[in-house]
Amino acid sequence: GSTIGILGGGQLGRMLSVAASRLGFKTCIFEPGGDCPASHVANFHMKAGYDDTEALTRFAQSVDVVTYEFENIPTAALDTVEAIRPIRPGREALRVSQDRLTEKTFLADLGLTVAPFAAVDGAEDLGTALAQVGAPAILKTRRFGYDGKGQARLATAQDADAALATLDGAPAILEGLVPFEREVSVIGARGADGSVACFDPGENLHEDGILRTTTVPARLSASQRTDAVLVAARILNALDYVGVLGVELFVTPDGFVVNEIAPRVHNSGHWTQNGCDIDQFEQHIRAVAGWPLGDGLRHSDVVMENLIGADMDRLPDLRTSGAALHLYGKAEVRAGRKMGHVNRRTGAA
Ligand code: ATP
Ligand code: MG
Ligand code: MG
Repeated sequence: GSTIGILGGGQLGRMLSVAASRLGFKTCIFEPGGDCPASHVANFHMKAGYDDTEALTRFAQSVDVVTYEFENIPTAALDTVEAIRPIRPGREALRVSQDRLTEKTFLADLGLTVAPFAAVDGAEDLGTALAQVGAPAILKTRRFGYDGKGQARLATAQDADAALATLDGAPAILEGLVPFEREVSVIGARGADGSVACFDPGENLHEDGILRTTTVPARLSASQRTDAVLVAARILNALDYVGVLGVELFVTPDGFVVNEIAPRVHNSGHWTQNGCDIDQFEQHIRAVAGWPLGDGLRHSDVVMENLIGADMDRLPDLRTSGAALHLYGKAEVRAGRKMGHVNRRTGAA
């Protein structure tokens, strides 16, 4: 049997490992941390840093194909791995999504609508950016942000200096605040043969910048549903993508505004584990392994709720609630930390 290498050992790597194992693959994760969620279920754990070229080389040599669970892998590490084994999804998807400015530019060049944006490399750019984008706005670091970290909101231009101060001089972009009706996401997949399959869009609710719940079906019209899939397909094809991709969309009266993309399985796709025969993790492994994509048809309505920090206090009740529990095996509960999620089926599709 063949072995799939996974860069990153968090919960996404864990659930990818489980899916790979179900399909008869072995997995080897590369993760500097010791007791990480994926290490509990993967067959092999290469515990080394991304600057350890020798370990990266051994990792790549020990697997047949390499994928990843997060997009912020250092370029040099990717170069080392790619010289030995294919990386799927490919480098272009990583290059584009590692930097919000590159990502927004790529999406706009595809003819997709994004929030008005401008680069802010330093304090001197902020005035021009504000004039271009207007207020209210959000200042975001270009790299490494997740769960709303590295972001500051500006209600008016007067908040500019305070917002900038919170980012510690990191290169940033200023985005106009999109007055959205709701947020949805599409989890799309593209196979090695170029075929595309998308899961039904989910409706996302965020709290304090962190995804709280995803509900399927999303409140979308039939034409919006088609549109959402077309947006995802356009991105997948443009990147010559192989694997699963998350696309976050704002729903506005004038159509979709693309918020961001993630070149990997996505938190807002966790509902597929209990809403579809073939979930996003299996779909990703299928694509990466060069298998045909599976049928991601949704059989149930589902509400996915993230279990964050102190939500774990509810575990005794959740254990008996009949809902499907997915726990990540993280030893330490911390505020804002994703500890697991629960999928409640609310009816037949
Ligand atoms: P993730 O954990 O999804 O990767 P992130 O840290 O990359 O999150 P974003 O997705 O950019 O952050 O923003 C988090 C949330 O903040 C969005 O889901 C949305 O609710 C809100 N938001 C971000 N940008 C905008 C915008 N331009 N207009 C309106 N709301 C926004
Ligand atoms: Mg993000
Ligand atoms: Mg987001």
